[in-house]
Amino acid sequence: MTFTVAIIGRPNVGKSTLFNRLVGKQLALVHDTPGLTRDWREADAHLMGLDFKVIDTAGLEESFDESIQGRMRQQTEQALARANMVLLVVDARIGITPMDRHFVDWIRKQKIPVALIANKCESNVGMTGMYEAYELGLGEPIAISAAHGEGMGELFDLLRPHVDKEKAESDASAAEDAEENLEKYFEKYQEGA
Ligand code: GDP
Ligand code: MG
Repeated sequence: MTFTVAIIGRPNVGKSTLFNRLVGKQLALVHDTPGLTRDWREADAHLMGLDFKVIDTAGLEESFDESIQGRMRQQTEQALARANMVLLVVDARIGITPMDRHFVDWIRKQKIPVALIANKCESNVGMTGMYEAYELGLGEPIAISAAHGEGMGELFDLLRPHVDKEKAESDASAAEDAEENLEKYFEKYQEGA
């Protein structure tokens, strides 16, 4: 299985911008996955030689009503079920909103690695939000600008050990499978002999 990262967070924090940056705007690779929420997008991502999959959870802005938190949760849950890791994005210029806190409280209860991404930090304008983000207790937030491509080195440093670990584990299990198949083959061979 390819290491899969789900980008979550409230509307307008820059999830899709980050998604497009990681996908390299190769829109041919961006597609709706049938059977999932309409605006769900999953694609191959590349970051400084690191290959993984990325899922954007998106597009609830136009159906903004009282049930938005429920709908977001539903979509986020679907993404989480397919992901190895979550990037929880906040808008560092606006700071932490009640809806951000709602996401944080919820994600904390899930058994999945989470990294906090403080977006819109170009030229350090998002510093106020960065300090608020620290206080959320999800570890050190990673300051990026999805729109301007800043902070991508830090994002790489964050993702790399997780991607490597997943690859090592899946290689080990592939080797195990191969060994098992070989054993079965020999058993069959001996029976036949
Ligand atoms: P989403 O709703 O979370 O998917 O957010 P979008 O990716 O659609 O972005 C929402 C708005 O934030 C758009 O107007 C983007 O251009 C803007 N935006 C996204 N990333 C950045 C950033 O790094 N800096 C600034 N200043 N604006 C950004
Ligand atoms: Mg979006």
